[in-house]
Amino acid sequence: MSAPQVIVVGAGTAGCVIARRLAEGCGKRVLVIESGPRYPGWALQAPLAGLRLRRHWSWALESVPQQQLHGRRIAFPMGRVVGGTSSINAMVAAAGPPADYDLWAASGNPGWSWADLGPCWERAVSQPGLARLPGSEPTSKSAFSEAFLRACQEDGIRRVSCLTGAETETCGPFPLFQERGARASAARYLADVRPAGQLSIRAHTTVRRVLMEGRRAVGVELGDRRAEATIMASEGVVVCAGALLSPRLLQGSGIGPAGPLRAAGIPLCVDLPGVGLNLHDHAGVPVVVESALPAPGRPALWLKAALDYALFGRGVMASNCCEAGCFLGPAGATPEVEVFSHFQTSRHRQAVELAVVLMHPHSRGWILPDRADPWGPSLIDPRFLADQRDREALLAGVERIRSVIAKPALRGFGLGKEILPGSLSGDAFLRNHAGSYHHPVGTCRMGNDPLAVVDARLRVHGTDNLWVADNSVVPTIPAGHTAATAIIIGERAADFLAADLGRR
Ligand SMILES: Cc1cc2nc3c(=O)[nH]c(=O)nc-3n(C[C@H](O)[C@H](O)[C@H](O)COP(=O)(O)OP(=O)(O)OC[C@H]3O[C@@H](n4cnc5c(N)ncnc54)[C@H](O)[C@@H]3O)c2cc1C
Repeated sequence: MSAPQVIVVGAGTAGCVIARRLAEGCGKRVLVIESGPRYPGWALQAPLAGLRLRRHWSWALESVPQQQLHGRRIAFPMGRVVGGTSSINAMVAAAGPPADYDLWAASGNPGWSWADLGPCWERAVSQPGLARLPGSEPTSKSAFSEAFLRACQEDGIRRVSCLTGAETETCGPFPLFQERGARASAARYLADVRPAGQLSIRAHTTVRRVLMEGRRAVGVELGDRRAEATIMASEGVVVCAGALLSPRLLQGSGIGPAGPLRAAGIPLCVDLPGVGLNLHDHAGVPVVVESALPAPGRPALWLKAALDYALFGRGVMASNCCEAGCFLGPAGATPEVEVFSHFQTSRHRQAVELAVVLMHPHSRGWILPDRADPWGPSLIDPRFLADQRDREALLAGVERIRSVIAKPALRGFGLGKEILPGSLSGDAFLRNHAGSYHHPVGTCRMGNDPLAVVDARLRVHGTDNLWVADNSVVPTIPAGHTAATAIIIGERAADFLAADLGRR
């Protein structure tokens, strides 16, 4: 391919969508640069095996010690592979309530209400093979998931055929990014792009910073810690490095809060104080209960599971592990808490686990360069549970789920002693066991106030030819699962970019 018109940094969940749409719909020569390898279908495709193997395709990021969590550092897995985190995640395809997206528009971002975004989601799920269609039968359903759903119903929670988070007090099986029992990563967007040659992918290549000429983005510099080469882009650069790494890339390019950048010795290009702020995530806790039944994914059954999967594309290896869940909260509002079932847990030999996850956290954290090592890992401080309301909401969720666990459907399933929280006080339980449920967002927030980083068309404030388009632009996290959010953002960004670039 001759020199690219547009460079997309990060072939992640949103990046793959944008790259395809720009190359195909908009006719641009697009180069996607990805730090990790191409999507290794053989290893990540079988859901359960992929979930076990995923650490080999992940950035080893972690937080600074968390004050509210006993000084623990919290791990942040994140895909380092084409398809990004959608190549290593749990494949749940639940976008969350339309009202949560309407809030984005209401906070000063025209074009981001669900009326605008719903069609983007529809377009995404009609992408060949991306998502199992709502309502279709899962290829794998464990006995525990089914018993959990019956217990939810006995507790007065309404069962739906496809659980998306749209309503409170609903339970059901999740729709999945799967096709015939195989993971459907966003990497699929990069297959068969027409016309051929319009899109190229450079894997195993890390972008060190965006090259700026004055305030205009003109290309990228490659290399982890030191500059190794540059690639120019005639029409601009789209940063899609995810909520944990997009702020790092901007900050390394001199776009961010003046004080911390100067302190780290990074020459300032644009003083944008909000870059790296507004980090928030779905924090949660595990409720673990002994189970009399042997775990369906135990090693003794691996051979049978592998044969079942290889021959028929079904069985425990086709499971994403969290097959079913419920969204809880007052009627008429959007959900406060989500609970999902794990038919086995690595925390105890014979037990099941329910994850209780906070949907609308009040705590906000930040990401900044480490002044002692500006090109090393950034400092990531999510300030988990710093806000008392978050602690209260999580503990209320745990109490509610205890009432579900006590229902006859689960007693009949053979549940025994509660291991977590067990005898721990609420405070000790949170300190020792709360953590990330893997949905970090918000660090290059969209808006028009002094702390906003991108405008409603995802252009970085104060720059030309530079966009950010991934989960870092989220103003407030929706009560759903954020791969869907990233795909929606990718589709919407492609609309805006096509219009902006199409005029040139
Ligand atoms: C363990 C786990 C389970 C999850 N389960 C679910 C689930 O079931 N359902 C759901 O909806 N969500 C789930 N999520 C969250 C969801 O997958 C992510 O929120 C979403 O995929 C993020 O998309 P993104 O486009 O913002 O970033 P990513 O998909 O993370 O993409 C960023 C890409 O940029 C690349 N990159 C970064 N920096 C550079 C650089 N300097 N140079 C080149 N490339 C770079 C990265 O390697 C990566 O490929 C899960 C997350 C995790 C970690």
